[in-house]
Amino acid sequence: MNDPMTQDLLQERLRRIPGVDQVLLRPRAVQWVAHTSRNFVVAEIQKLLQEIREALRSGNALADGSTDPDELDRALEERLKSRLRPALRPVINATGVILHTNLGRAPLSTAAQNCLSAVSSQYTNLEFDLKGGERSYRDALLEPLLSELLGCESAVVVNNNAAAVFLILNTLAPGKEVIVSRGELIEIGGSFRIPDILTRSGARLREVGTTNKTRIRDYEAAIGPDTALLLRVHPSNYRIRGFTHKPELRELASLAHSRGLPLVEDIGSGCLLDLRRFGVREEPVAQESLSSGADLICFSADKLLGGPQAGVIAGAASHVGAIRKNPLMRVCRVEKLIYGALEATLLSYRSGKALEEIPVLNMISMPAEELRIRTSRFAAKLRPRLPAGTLVDVVDGESVVGGGSCPDCSLPATLAAIESENPGPSAIEARLRAQDPPIIVRLEEDRALIDLRTVFPPQEAALLDGLLAALSPS
Ligand SMILES: *Cc1c(COP(=O)(O)O)cnc(C)c1O
Repeated sequence: MNDPMTQDLLQERLRRIPGVDQVLLRPRAVQWVAHTSRNFVVAEIQKLLQEIREALRSGNALADGSTDPDELDRALEERLKSRLRPALRPVINATGVILHTNLGRAPLSTAAQNCLSAVSSQYTNLEFDLKGGERSYRDALLEPLLSELLGCESAVVVNNNAAAVFLILNTLAPGKEVIVSRGELIEIGGSFRIPDILTRSGARLREVGTTNKTRIRDYEAAIGPDTALLLRVHPSNYRIRGFTHKPELRELASLAHSRGLPLVEDIGSGCLLDLRRFGVREEPVAQESLSSGADLICFSADKLLGGPQAGVIAGAASHVGAIRKNPLMRVCRVEKLIYGALEATLLSYRSGKALEEIPVLNMISMPAEELRIRTSRFAAKLRPRLPAGTLVDVVDGESVVGGGSCPDCSLPATLAAIESENPGPSAIEARLRAQDPPIIVRLEEDRALIDLRTVFPPQEAALLDGLLAALSPS
């Protein structure tokens, strides 16, 4: 760069960079100014020109052509578009992980989507009683439906299940003891730990039993004048196998009630249907927990329930009423969009159409044969268009429920496995992420695996195009 020739060349190239005013006069820039604002376009032109200047100075060969007017137009267009593109985007989930927390957990049903669109753009009766013409409270909308579906007296909706656990403890046990088995002091991920939430709620943790075995008499011995409640937590994302014991929920309930205490169960996933026949075992069914004697349960609405992010607290009217009066309820309340999407999701349970209409349940209950046929067809479409040296195999594998539910269960699946030397598997994975829409896949034993269980059929064409683009040799 110290070479005088190169210096001259650099100065010459820098001189060729047009001024902001010149770029502003170009037809595309004029259109952008008309559709957005002059300030926005000017600021982006300034940044673009500055980047070109820096690239030239740092000797980046790619920058050489960047002062060409057509090239400048193209770069500006690209830049303006990307600056107005939302950072939150739809992605194609080809991982086969149904409740992928990083990918937003449950996709919503068509009914929930329609409801979102209706209640988001117009006024609603969120806190208005249409019969009496008076102010009402927002939970009045969903309480009857939740109570009916769950078979309980009362229910309240909060921001998520973490908030539900916190509010329950903060309402029923401030300054008092909450008895929990050592086998249930779990971490859900993203820093949600039962002991930490419990302490922050103002309650005191009274651990009983051991990691693998907790007996009813351990609970019994721990109950004292300071005890506020017994808490059972579903160890969603882990299982203890082997030499283990924990009391049945019924036993725990009768112990609690004989001492005048409530039993609270955090069931985690919000499973409202028995999904055992599809291979989802050991997930407590909400209605069963309540009928077995839990006075209050709480769960997420965006895990197995298949709705938007929310937490549901359900059970005895006296406890739910007390929670509703807690000033922190206001901190945890949800807005109309969530009520709308949650209600639409729950209505699929009432109509008996949940397995068909709710995407998460639809994916869980997808017949193995259907997935096999879809995958074979997809592979057959892909094969003739693949670059030389790339192979697609149809293989047996497993899909995963995810979202901290059912860590031990896997759903038998048929996958498309992609093998390629150039680009290799991790390059393919990265290139797929860079597609529009981004495609997320699983890598396993040097192969990229495509699981169509979590891909919506209308996304298959974009998946195919994205794969072909990502697989072209570099
Ligand atoms: C997932 C989960 C939570 C946290 O729920 P969020 O809705 O993510 O806040 C709490 N407890 C259990 C047992 C869970 O499985």
